[in-house]
Amino acid sequence: MLALSGISLSSGIALGRAHRLQPRELEIPRRTIEPDEIETEIARFHAAVEATRRHLDELIANLEKKTPGAHATAHEFLDTHRLLLRDPEIIDGTVTAIRDTACNAEWAVQTRQTAIADSFAAIEDPYLRARIEDIEHVTRLIIEALTDGRAPVLLNSPRLQGGAGDLAGRIVVTRVLSPPQVTLLHQHGVSALVLEQGSSFAHAAILARSLGIPALIGVHSALTLIKEDDELILDGHYGVLFVMHSDRLRRHYRDKQHDLAFQVAADLDAKEPIKTKDGVALDIYLNTEEPAEIAPPRGSGLAGVGLMRTEFLFLDRRPADEESQLAHYRAMLAAAGGRPVTIRTFDIGGDKLLAGDRPQGGGENPALGLRAVRLGLNHPELLRRQLRALLRAACDGPLRILLPLVTTAGEIRQVRRMMQQLIADLPAAEHPPAEHLALGAMIETPAAALAIHTLLPEVDFVAIGTNDLSQYTLAADRLDPAVGYLYDPLHPALLRLISHVIEQAEARGIPVSLCGEMAAEPKYAGVLIGLGLRAFSVHCGAVAALARRLKTLDAGRCRALMQRALKDPDFDPQALLAAIDGSTQPP
Ligand code: PEP
Ligand code: MG
Repeated sequence: MLALSGISLSSGIALGRAHRLQPRELEIPRRTIEPDEIETEIARFHAAVEATRRHLDELIANLEKKTPGAHATAHEFLDTHRLLLRDPEIIDGTVTAIRDTACNAEWAVQTRQTAIADSFAAIEDPYLRARIEDIEHVTRLIIEALTDGRAPVLLNSPRLQGGAGDLAGRIVVTRVLSPPQVTLLHQHGVSALVLEQGSSFAHAAILARSLGIPALIGVHSALTLIKEDDELILDGHYGVLFVMHSDRLRRHYRDKQHDLAFQVAADLDAKEPIKTKDGVALDIYLNTEEPAEIAPPRGSGLAGVGLMRTEFLFLDRRPADEESQLAHYRAMLAAAGGRPVTIRTFDIGGDKLLAGDRPQGGGENPALGLRAVRLGLNHPELLRRQLRALLRAACDGPLRILLPLVTTAGEIRQVRRMMQQLIADLPAAEHPPAEHLALGAMIETPAAALAIHTLLPEVDFVAIGTNDLSQYTLAADRLDPAVGYLYDPLHPALLRLISHVIEQAEARGIPVSLCGEMAAEPKYAGVLIGLGLRAFSVHCGAVAALARRLKTLDAGRCRALMQRALKDPDFDPQALLAAIDGSTQPP
């Protein structure tokens, strides 16, 4: 078995056969044309621009039919491309080039594109330079339309010559994609995307997410290592791609996928608060980056957003600017409709490395290096920009700012000072109301858990991240399948740390939730209830099953079982789960 890692764009799971798309190399010969051919050549160029426009229009129309909810984001990106088809720099510039140099249209478009790229390269602003990618995509489409005189070939695949659905269930492996290409693949039923490059993928990445296509980017040498028709499993949560895996692994993921599909369909009943059998009230929050998931009616029974990861805003060559971050945060607050939204500052580094040369923790051991809040404090300009957007968003509703991978109280104090300074510098109209703002820490390191008493005076809430807390406590890399057997949420060391954090937070009246994957697994719900947890934060697919499970539990009994288990020298996790199961009853 081969396991490749990449940067995951969504937490979905996909199983399917590989379809490789080798990038098509375009040959663009230069032809000198006679003076009396110039107008015909210009007309040919305009016809190709029209063919490209029709093609993009068709993509948008199909998209609206197929995925009505997603078309706003797709529109935005495809519109950028459509607008470029009217850009005088490209269009008039090409016409002038044909006239002045008496060359064929393909060559004129190509030289125009190179000239624009060169002028962008001279500009310092990386955002403007990033725009060259869109221009490259569009000029390539025009050249393709010119080359065969028909619609541009968005992707060079025999499977795409047939009707929509020819890629149904396929996992496409390629180097890089543009937004129109992602849209086309979506229309052909592709189930997931694996890309070798991450740096030039930003718009397509956001689009893939909004279309609900699981995708991994930055999977090095994917086209070399993966053959056509190889069976693949993409685990979007851990950012891993399995190639040539075992039947057992396939069964495991099929079950998981089935559960997700089933659970996503079920809604949480807003009218009935979630209570254990013995009447203990519980909250379920959502881990999400998609406002649609929390918006009523679907998410109306949820207490709010317990974790919005923001790494996706930093995937672009240039991290999202303040205004576009603000738009994302506001959209989430609007969807939550007055319920609290917890937004985590960027957790870059460790397993969440970004492509390109942007600041990120490297070092011999990135998981122990400059990651998350450490990276933010080391690159205060990035963190300040995000905090400013968050503070401005907090005018719209209750927002909880969550700091990832906190290790010391000093880190929280530094961020709080930064926030105070930012507020002081904001115009009065944009000062967030104090009751809208909370600052919290993720408890993800053994240091933070053991020294929780030193962190609690600095925070308004804490969120336990068991994905990392397990990795750091058990010294088992969360991405390394070879030590996966050690990565056990029921290890007594981990249970003791969780118990300690909850106990201390409760004693000081600081709200505590748990947002690692452990919370989403119904079989651990009794354990967590027994450790005193009352707020779970899980991804959308896990909500319904968790709610069902919670209603079957007796909190008092779980508490007694856990108190015993924590002290038991013969602690047996399976026996504990069986004992909890034995005490459940249908709600
Ligand atoms: C965690 O570590 O449990 C967590 C929720 O954060 P992430 O999985 O994004 O590292
Ligand atoms: Mg984490």
